[in-house]
Amino acid sequence: MRFNLVTQIFTAFVLAVILGSIFGSKIDFLQPLGDLFLRLIKFVIAPLILSTLVVGVASMSDPKQLGRIGVKTIVYYLATTAVAIIIGLGVAFLLNPGKGVDLPAENAAVPEAAAAEPQSAVDTLLNIVPVNPFEALATGNILQIIFFALFLGIAITMIGEKATPVLRFFEGFAEIMYKITGIIMRVAPIGILGLMAPVVGQYGLSVLLPLLKVIAAVYIACVVHALVVYSLAVKTMGKMSPVTFFKGIFPAALVAYSTASSAGTLPVTMKNTTENLGVPKRIASFVLPLGATINMDGTAIYQGVAVVFIAQFFNLELTFLQLLTVVLTTVLASIGTAGVPGAGMIMLAMVLNSVNMPLEGIALIAGIDRVLDMMRTSVNIVGDASAAVIVAGSERETGTQAEAVQ
Ligand code: ASP
Repeated sequence: MRFNLVTQIFTAFVLAVILGSIFGSKIDFLQPLGDLFLRLIKFVIAPLILSTLVVGVASMSDPKQLGRIGVKTIVYYLATTAVAIIIGLGVAFLLNPGKGVDLPAENAAVPEAAAAEPQSAVDTLLNIVPVNPFEALATGNILQIIFFALFLGIAITMIGEKATPVLRFFEGFAEIMYKITGIIMRVAPIGILGLMAPVVGQYGLSVLLPLLKVIAAVYIACVVHALVVYSLAVKTMGKMSPVTFFKGIFPAALVAYSTASSAGTLPVTMKNTTENLGVPKRIASFVLPLGATINMDGTAIYQGVAVVFIAQFFNLELTFLQLLTVVLTTVLASIGTAGVPGAGMIMLAMVLNSVNMPLEGIALIAGIDRVLDMMRTSVNIVGDASAAVIVAGSERETGTQAEAVQ
């Protein structure tokens, strides 16, 4: 059954590429199918995070365990993001994507969103605490929902007996949300066709050609990062074969590629991670929503490549100190990037600002952002899943993963 769905999703993907290439923008009429699928997976996000995380936290009888899992997750997220940006910079310096590029003048306007000032670090931190948890749920603010759910779960454990009915409610509710996700996934192939075909139709070769090296640099760095860093991490720390890992997370990676949204892919990432990779729900429900919000390795890679591209395009030398600043600000920028399409490009402004590089640079690659976004989003969610595997492995809770994938 699962094999069938994966094959179907992949077939839809290939079909979308073929149809998009043949029919160009005429294929746009399929877009509503993609939008429908996106809306369907988005509508489970807030209730899914809330219910599964409350249950997850409440089932950790030992508060120390919660703290331990939190620390491991965050350390892993930060470390892999730093490695990602270094790989991004490295590949970019090898390929020199910005040398000899001649871009048409119409690309020269800075996209309005990118020119906006990103939030300060203090505001970002303060903003994690919701003034109204129901507003957080209503607007789908993931970090605020996580905050609310953590508190609810902890308080439920502290109260004990009297809070049991509430816990039971959330347990049942979480199961329902998992079920709904499963039902929605059955239409994923149609949704992916509807999302991908118009994208392929829109980006003819002529748009991509001058920037082919940028695309190649981002894609190569993403593949290297996934194959080297995640393989090593899941093998050594998660005690899982990388093949098992990539096979298990593949459907979510394809959904991420088609939607360019880690937040939007979250229900699928959770489903794959728990069902295919054997990560316990209580760990997945903490590690993954957090990852979809703060862990963006693909975005960090993209920002690294973009900085080198822009510097080369404008003939600017990057000093070692500047590179170091880029690494630091990119880690922060990728944390601050929302898991929605195009967010990484907006946060690029913060990175460019930190080394006094021209924001106009963003406009140069804005035209191909979607193509880069799809790849970086896939890496973003695969990174989240690898964290879930290694945290579960270190807590010795992936014992059944091998059977789960068979
Ligand atoms: N689209 C990416 C994501 O959702 C964020 C980005 O634009 O880099 O993960």
